[in-house]
Amino acid sequence: MIKKHLNQNAVKDQWEVYQNKAKAVWKSYQKEIVRTTAGVVVACIVSVGGAAMIQPNAYAVSYNGELLGYVEDTALMDAALQAVKDSVSQETGVQEVAVDMAGLDVERTRVKTRSTEFATAESLTALLLEREAYVCEAYSIVVNGTPVLGVASEDDANAILEAVKNSYSQGNSKIISVEYKETVEILPSDARDVPVVKDVGSGLNYILTGTEEPRTYVVEQGDTLWDIAHANGMSSAELIAANPGFDPNRLKIGQTLNLVAMKPFMTVVITEEVTETESIPFTTQYTNNSSMYKGQTSVITAGKNGSKEVVSKVVSENGIVTSKEMLSETVTAEPVMQTAYKGTKALVYTTASGKTVSLSNPLASIQISDGYGASRGSRRHLGVDLRASKGTPIYAAADGLVTKVSSTGSYGKLVVIDHGNGVTTKYAHCNSFNVSVGDTVTRGQQIATVGSTGNATGNILHYEVLINGSNVNPANFLN
Ligand SMILES: [Zn+2]
Repeated sequence: MIKKHLNQNAVKDQWEVYQNKAKAVWKSYQKEIVRTTAGVVVACIVSVGGAAMIQPNAYAVSYNGELLGYVEDTALMDAALQAVKDSVSQETGVQEVAVDMAGLDVERTRVKTRSTEFATAESLTALLLEREAYVCEAYSIVVNGTPVLGVASEDDANAILEAVKNSYSQGNSKIISVEYKETVEILPSDARDVPVVKDVGSGLNYILTGTEEPRTYVVEQGDTLWDIAHANGMSSAELIAANPGFDPNRLKIGQTLNLVAMKPFMTVVITEEVTETESIPFTTQYTNNSSMYKGQTSVITAGKNGSKEVVSKVVSENGIVTSKEMLSETVTAEPVMQTAYKGTKALVYTTASGKTVSLSNPLASIQISDGYGASRGSRRHLGVDLRASKGTPIYAAADGLVTKVSSTGSYGKLVVIDHGNGVTTKYAHCNSFNVSVGDTVTRGQQIATVGSTGNATGNILHYEVLINGSNVNPANFLN
């Protein structure tokens, strides 16, 4: 792909040869005009190979054997050649541009001035540019032997590669190594063989995306990934692919998204030590508060998250992390513990009519031996079993009416209290009763003692809470 490294001096030599030749021709031409006008010689007959030739009055300009046109004045040729150099220099940023003198041929000739349309400097410039009649030595970034991008100088090429690396770095890091999966070189090359960019920024975009000016979109409020993708003729997957490292679940207002698929020419593998600041969540120390309901909390003194600096070794390929390993962790600010009240008051049940019912513990000390819903063969445990020694007092969970006192079946000795508002509690496996059916009880009043009657496996209180006839987990009402 790379053309031979043309020797700038050789080109200059050719240019001088041409100019000297042209000057000589021009001088002799002027002499002839002088002679002609002086009337000393009316017609100058030049004998070439025995054939007669009429006096030349123009120059034929050819490139690689193709006649481009006639000029009357070599100054016009000079202007055209300078314009070619300036134009290429302007377009590529390369200062040293030479005209390909080897292919250029300027020959004295005779034309019929009336019927000949002479070339202008502009027309010659255009024709020469069209035929790339110049030598422009650029530097190319060559990937696996293929020049992908040309720039004016080796420095610019290096700056572009540096920018490519930086754009893929995770940031806030110490770069340990940068490697390419491909063979990447900077080599002198002919600007005619490779797309040439004038500045480092365009070069960076070109290397990353394959185009000098990638289209982007800035995320606005209310945007969804789908909206953005479809408004720009892309699928969501294409949009995601065009933005490596972008988390589609975290679309941020003001975020710039690439609308052109990233087609990097190379794979940059970066190993770096990335330093990130992470938050250390504060802990909360609770103080029980019996005037607040269970589950309620109230901050006494606010806590504050601490922070730590975490250094990780991160390996990424074109910005996408392929491995991350924590190296060290330094606490920069200790978290401040929060203090808060925690409610212990029994939970309330809100009835359909909006009334609330709260239940207090049926035993002074709660120790659950078997939870609600535990398997009982083909059935589920409808209450909680609370461990206590035989004879421990059992208290009414709330005000209510004793609707059942019985001593049969698997429940053994059982008390059932209707608290109104659809709430019922059951106390089973009792040892003795303190109430009878029809008694009105108040919250905390002793109704029975713990025993092991019925199918109890030990001294336990089997405690059930029913709301509108359905069992609920009594643990929710224990505190
Ligand atoms: Zn039970």
